[in-house]
Amino acid sequence: MSQMINVLKYYLKYKYTKFEDEDRLKGYQEKKLKKRLEYVTEHSGFYNKYKGCKLEDFPIIDKKIMMDNFDSINTVGINREEALSFAIESEDRREFSSKLSGITVGLSSGTSYSRGIFLVEDEEKDKWAGYVLARFLPKGILSKCSIAFFMRANSNLYENVGKGRIRFDFFDIYKDMEENFRRLNDLNADIIVAQPSVLLMIAAAVKEGRLRILPEKVISIAEVLERRDEEYLKKVLGLDVIHQVYQCTEGCLATTCSCGRLHLNEDIVYIEKEYIDDERFVPIITDLERTSQPIIRYRLNDILVEDKKRCECGLIFTPLIEIEGREDDVFIFAEKNGNEIPIFPDFIRRCILFAGDITDYRIVQEKDSSITVYADIDEELRSKVFKEFEKLSLDQGFILSRVRFKSYTFDKGRKLKRVERSL
Ligand SMILES: [Zn+2]
Repeated sequence: MSQMINVLKYYLKYKYTKFEDEDRLKGYQEKKLKKRLEYVTEHSGFYNKYKGCKLEDFPIIDKKIMMDNFDSINTVGINREEALSFAIESEDRREFSSKLSGITVGLSSGTSYSRGIFLVEDEEKDKWAGYVLARFLPKGILSKCSIAFFMRANSNLYENVGKGRIRFDFFDIYKDMEENFRRLNDLNADIIVAQPSVLLMIAAAVKEGRLRILPEKVISIAEVLERRDEEYLKKVLGLDVIHQVYQCTEGCLATTCSCGRLHLNEDIVYIEKEYIDDERFVPIITDLERTSQPIIRYRLNDILVEDKKRCECGLIFTPLIEIEGREDDVFIFAEKNGNEIPIFPDFIRRCILFAGDITDYRIVQEKDSSITVYADIDEELRSKVFKEFEKLSLDQGFILSRVRFKSYTFDKGRKLKRVERSL
């Protein structure tokens, strides 16, 4: 029970901490940052030497630096090898309730060569649960609500939300989907949480009449929700908004508001913006809440697109037009003069969008810079897609290498990426 009270405490805190103007938010962030940096320099060996320094004096780190210095960065004395073997063992057994020295250890769902580990304490889990509930529960914490959560691993990070009047059912995406759908039909959940690839499978089942569900809210997590998929989900599921949580191992970065627009969660994460052009930026994040594994000036390799227009919902947190994708997924082509030119995923996506009605596709730039389009489309559509690529190459002035077409394949254990550069 005490844990539920703790979650409730954070729920109330986040629900009712409002920021009327930017000065108030700035003041709040400054106070939080000061406290966080004091804690980190006190408890983390890696940050010890930055005692008394301002945030801008701290080093900018990335996943590699985080993993290479895992032992000295974390404040709970957990060793990387030990954490890694513990996490892999839990994943193998698909048993996620055990903890290492009282700490939840998880693997981030990155590709195998860049596996990350994350550590979360119970107190942090309660905070996370309180935050998510504050952001998404349609009727508040005291009303009954059933949440269906589809994910690849039942980390006990998520079971936490399933207490009291809030019913929380977990669906393992590795299990038979038809079996999952049968359970989902019986449950009739108010809220469905899943990654876009699974939401698309759910929508297909609804369209075919295999699923009869009427969720009040659908929340997309873990992968980037492409605008086109979003439109499709809205149409099939009969919703005005598909909500999104843009969350990575490093923190819960952005959530949608009542208007359906994504806002950075600037009350829990401090974000420095490394601009690539007028509106695109790479976020460097400092988590204002995490203690066991501090996240200080961590550079993500995602590209976010800022929306300069204020949002009608009244939130003053930075609104985003979209999460464009990973920085690694920017296609690189050669110009006639031999220089390289980056082409953002959005431009690549539009080659499909403008060609015609293509729902399932993936576009991969291979190591030799040629392009493979995975889609079940006929010759006519193929030539239209090719023409769009040709047009793009003329507009942007790059040399278009070979474009190949293959039938659509997607491994559901992996993250769905519509646009991807092979590294
Ligand atoms: Zn808004």
